Amino acid sequence: MTHTPHVAIVGAGPSGLFAAQALLRAHESVRIDILDRLPAPFGLLRYGVAPDHASMQGIQRALVAPFTSERVRFFGLVELGRSITRDELVAGYDAVIYAAGASEDRRLHVPGEELPGSRSAREFVAWYCGHPDAEAQQLAGVEAAVTFGVGNVAVDVARVLAASPARLAGTDMPGDVLAELRRASVRDVWVVGRRGPQHASFTTPELRELLGLDGVQPVIDPTDVAGIDETDLDRRVRGNLAALREAAGRSVPDAHARLHLRFWRRPVSVMGEDAVSGVVLERTLPAGGTSVVGTGERETIACQLVLRAIGYRGRPLAGVAFDDEAGVIPNRGGRVVRPDGTPSPGEYVVGWIKRGPVGVIGTNKSDAAETVALLLDDLAAETGVKDAARGPEVDALLASHGLEASSFADWEAIDAEERARGEASGRSRVKVASWSQLTDLVRHGRGGGPLEREHEGEAAPAAEAGLAGDDLS
Ligand code: NAP
Repeated sequence: MTHTPHVAIVGAGPSGLFAAQALLRAHESVRIDILDRLPAPFGLLRYGVAPDHASMQGIQRALVAPFTSERVRFFGLVELGRSITRDELVAGYDAVIYAAGASEDRRLHVPGEELPGSRSAREFVAWYCGHPDAEAQQLAGVEAAVTFGVGNVAVDVARVLAASPARLAGTDMPGDVLAELRRASVRDVWVVGRRGPQHASFTTPELRELLGLDGVQPVIDPTDVAGIDETDLDRRVRGNLAALREAAGRSVPDAHARLHLRFWRRPVSVMGEDAVSGVVLERTLPAGGTSVVGTGERETIACQLVLRAIGYRGRPLAGVAFDDEAGVIPNRGGRVVRPDGTPSPGEYVVGWIKRGPVGVIGTNKSDAAETVALLLDDLAAETGVKDAARGPEVDALLASHGLEASSFADWEAIDAEERARGEASGRSRVKVASWSQLTDLVRHGRGGGPLEREHEGEAAPAAEAGLAGDDLS
């Protein structure tokens, strides 16, 4: 290949940024354009990691590295399918890497799941992380909450619900989120697994942190954690069982809340007329492999909030191949494949939209390295990549559509404002959570009018598909 390769990455979350890093390290001249529908990069690191896990923010310092390279440009407020099409991108670049994550939810498929007060943990997480698309949550009157699923997302939402307000007060949560969490008087949080504790997917440090929350009494049926043959269990599972057993015997004086871990129970229905009033569970038994069978023995838990923490799901990208059953872009090692199994030239995929919603943020590093190695092989061999006669790139395409993207400098203006808000309230940062304020900050940073600061946390309208060029002039 004789010309400088240009790569577009769709999604500025951890998987996209690890891919950018891997490309920069492995190729001395590659140029990279990173697109995101939000004006803020970092994806799930910013909008998925629980705000009380501030140490994770250290990863942000590593992930920001590609943006310091002159070979990288950031185009925020650009949505594939709305601002720009897949065909335009594929024509404009030697390679396109899809790094769009998994932004849908799995469903329980039980009656009552749609009642007000029953929602996905993903929506709840997006709200407390200040995602501009998140719907404001009402917690007034919530005394008991049930989460279905026993993975790390369930652990996160259970911790945020059960924690004392003091634990969350110093985080970067938007002010109205903190106020709503303070208003809630959650006394009981139930974490319900359809299989046993030895099958739970949460990790031991996260579980221990949950079980050790100040002022929270763990409630665990000792029979759930007794008599389990540990011979073939891995270290994580043995660690989980040890943590659960310790917690089952611990008494927390003057607890403000109880945390119930309930295993071998599957959801039968969510009860309520106009809003959630409880859930019906059925006891289960193992039925071979990962399946369970109901015993017919039922129980009811009164609650006002139900959160499904049963896994995320990839969302199809307009015009891009998609395996609807698996919720991923069909690929082999990161090379996108067509229905006949042959590689689709110049198209690659990384992260949750490649392998499904599993693994921690660091998993994306090796995952991105795998994809980037194949991409570079293809570039070197000039197989699977287009010739140098490319179509226009993102900036020219947007201009032709009358749209203008936000830049990394615009993100820095948002970042500075969030830090300033943090300083004013004794925190390191307070997130800006509304679309209008985010786009205001972009305009303001370009000398386009005063900042509107009155409506923090307002309900978000649909995402802008790029700003109209005139707005930023
Ligand atoms: P997950 O680990 O896959 O857990 C999903 C849970 O939902 C499992 O317990 C699963 O049970 C259960 N489930 C699925 N369908 C169900 C149904 N119909 N009824 C009842 N239960 C059902 O997913 P996650 O918690 O969303 O986490 C996603 C990834 O992000 C994980 O890799 C996780 O480690 C990572 N993450 C990490 C952190 C952290 O490191 N602090 C924080 C958040 C997320 P079965 O096993 O029986 O299917």
